[in-house]
Amino acid sequence: MSGGTNNSPRAHDIAPEFASRVLRGVPMSKHTSWHAGGPADLFFIPRDTADLGSFIRQLPLDLPLLWIGLGSNLLVRDGGLRGAVISTHGALGTLERSSATRIHAGAGVPCTRIARQCVKWGLGPAEFFAGIPGTLGGALAMNAGAWGRETWSHVIEVQVMDRRGMRHTRAPADYEIGYRRVRGPADEWFVGARLEFERRPGVNDAAIRDLLERRRQTQPIGQWSCGSVFVNPPGEHAARLIESAGLKGLRIGDASVSEKHANFIINHGAARAADIEALILEVQRKVAAVHGIDLLTEVRIVGDAA
Ligand SMILES: Cc1cc2nc3c(=O)[nH]c(=O)nc-3n(C[C@H](O)[C@H](O)[C@H](O)COP(=O)(O)OP(=O)(O)OC[C@H]3O[C@@H](n4cnc5c(N)ncnc54)[C@H](O)[C@@H]3O)c2cc1C
Repeated sequence: MSGGTNNSPRAHDIAPEFASRVLRGVPMSKHTSWHAGGPADLFFIPRDTADLGSFIRQLPLDLPLLWIGLGSNLLVRDGGLRGAVISTHGALGTLERSSATRIHAGAGVPCTRIARQCVKWGLGPAEFFAGIPGTLGGALAMNAGAWGRETWSHVIEVQVMDRRGMRHTRAPADYEIGYRRVRGPADEWFVGARLEFERRPGVNDAAIRDLLERRRQTQPIGQWSCGSVFVNPPGEHAARLIESAGLKGLRIGDASVSEKHANFIINHGAARAADIEALILEVQRKVAAVHGIDLLTEVRIVGDAA
């Protein structure tokens, strides 16, 4: 890192007040649910939004930034990430009710916590968040959803931070929002959102338990994965296409296509990101050959090859 590639920050690029809090060479395998991936040059966990703004302001403007939540939709290649990773998990954790039907949540709040707290507040339908093992920031970036519900259906406004550490408030109309796809102003990241739900006085934890049980029956919960690897093509299910192409159990290194849910790829313990990526490409190649359909990835693939 120090004095390394053009985009690698040197020690004096980081202001002294942050130098001791910036970790270097952090293995991304520790911050992704696939437990794979090489080192991040710089890794920073902010104390709060103001601290994050100050940190970003003092970075060289051309330094690449990657914001992450719980890394549950991320494949980081084995060569790792140049620039700085901002981890919102464990930070930006405000969760409060702002009116009878509205809540405000920081980007680092886990979706599961939003689901449980909304039940306590008698608000719904937020139960669908319970099975999504990411943060609100990741859910906003992905338009995460389940059981026919999507994150952005509930967004009233988002708070974002730009590359100069300045905060702005934006409306859903500022974004192009689709199925697992969100496009908005460049070089801005989510720090929080105001969400709206309905009053559901009778809602209780049983609704969450039911949805989680349905997941356990159909998905390899507890194994290292990123959830669904591919988005469903229009009118189709990626899992059905993969399964009917005979690819369940297909293995490269220590990564394989789940026997339980064909759209999941499992790291059995020692898979490298390169094994997982090779398996993704192989599944795409075989599905295209058998069905004539190009599967697109839902997971975000980032970083340098080893
Ligand atoms: C077992 C399992 C089940 C899953 N089930 C579902 C499901 O039912 N539905 C579903 O939609 N997804 C599902 N997922 C995928 C994943 O949980 C979601 O995509 C989730 O929203 C990702 O959140 P994260 O915090 O982990 O984001 P990360 O994986 O950390 O990041 C994902 C993307 O979001 C960006 N990002 C993260 N935080 C921010 C921020 N604050 N501002 C801007 N960009 C940001 C990252 O740069 C990256 O591009 C599942 C994953 C697993 C492992």
